[in-house]
Amino acid sequence: MKLKFENAPRPSNVTQDQWQDWAWQLRSSLKSHADYAAFFDLHQSEKNAFEKGQQLFNVRSTPYYASLASRTNHLDPIRRILTPHEKELYDPKQAQLDPLGERKNSNNPVPRIIHRYSDRVLFLITDICSVYCRYCTRKHFTGADQAFIKKSEYEQALDYIKKTKGLREVILSGGDPLTISDGQLERVLTDLRKIEHVEIIRIGTRMPVVAPMRITQNLVEIIRRSKPVFLMTHFNHPRELTAEAAEAIERLVDHGIPVMNQMVLLNGVNNHAAIVQALSRRLLYLRAKPYYMFQCDPSIGTDYLRTTVENSLQIQKELWGHLSGLAMPQLSVDIPDGGGKTYYVPNFEKSVSLEKREYVGWDGVHAEYINPEPTEIVQPMDYEMYLAEWNEIRQSKN
Ligand code: SF4
Repeated sequence: MKLKFENAPRPSNVTQDQWQDWAWQLRSSLKSHADYAAFFDLHQSEKNAFEKGQQLFNVRSTPYYASLASRTNHLDPIRRILTPHEKELYDPKQAQLDPLGERKNSNNPVPRIIHRYSDRVLFLITDICSVYCRYCTRKHFTGADQAFIKKSEYEQALDYIKKTKGLREVILSGGDPLTISDGQLERVLTDLRKIEHVEIIRIGTRMPVVAPMRITQNLVEIIRRSKPVFLMTHFNHPRELTAEAAEAIERLVDHGIPVMNQMVLLNGVNNHAAIVQALSRRLLYLRAKPYYMFQCDPSIGTDYLRTTVENSLQIQKELWGHLSGLAMPQLSVDIPDGGGKTYYVPNFEKSVSLEKREYVGWDGVHAEYINPEPTEIVQPMDYEMYLAEWNEIRQSKN
């Protein structure tokens, strides 16, 4: 079956030129109770969120993304991502403003830099997003209207990256780094490329999902000039993969920019094996690698959107053996309070001894893996060639 991607339904009062202009999409965003009420037939649970939620996390959606959601049914998966619900205001079981522990002093050496892992840093270059997802994990920072990083903070951040020689990757994040202008992005990429030890740059963005017209020819040429740059995007549901989104992904990949997708498992949105497989197969067909399937972080107001870990494990188990390794995203949980990631795979081991391990595979095959006869452990003769590099990376964090 050849996969098909449908255009998003453009409202009749919007011209094609407006619709295809990402700046127009941002300018025309739905940002208030009145905007949402004009666009959607709001359910009482959504009205209550707007009316009672003094401290409600920001609301915003591009008209493009809003057009993918049902106007009449508040249970629609995409609508659950972009419309606030009164359950955001309930006392949750675990509500953290900063579930990843990013604001701990040791992780946040200078403003806008999060240094959690030794070989890489997050560089938060803007706090603005074109859509505020209800499950956002970075509510402590996102949407505080600070916009593009101030000059003094930018210089401090660059200085930190320059002097931390063990760093190999910089992940541009926010907010959404592709909400800044082409000129601003080009400057950031060019400055990072001048730092010799920075090998990989990643851009974490939802723009291919919520405003795919942002992926212009000019933008991909700017990104390509700073290669190797990986684009980390964030599709959660197969209906987000429209013809416009497909074109954006293909434009990136055709210009040599690898695209990786990080989905979040969300209750009532995508927590079914059939939905995850449909999303993964379509992404792979477009040459975007399904990379992570995240357990939703316990960010404030997200209990109603979080799945249980057991629900997520069950989905993974159902997919195992029916999705190729290329199509299978890695189920991962960020341990709260900045404990780092932990991964899950279904456990097929039935017994373990020094001599052998016994398995029953996903479709019931019984087999053993027998260790070789114990022999002397042989160190590769040339490992010392790589030790200096390895030590530099290991010592870059604390
Ligand atoms: S695009 Fe990312 S950073 Fe912005 S609100 Fe959504 S999840 Fe949070």
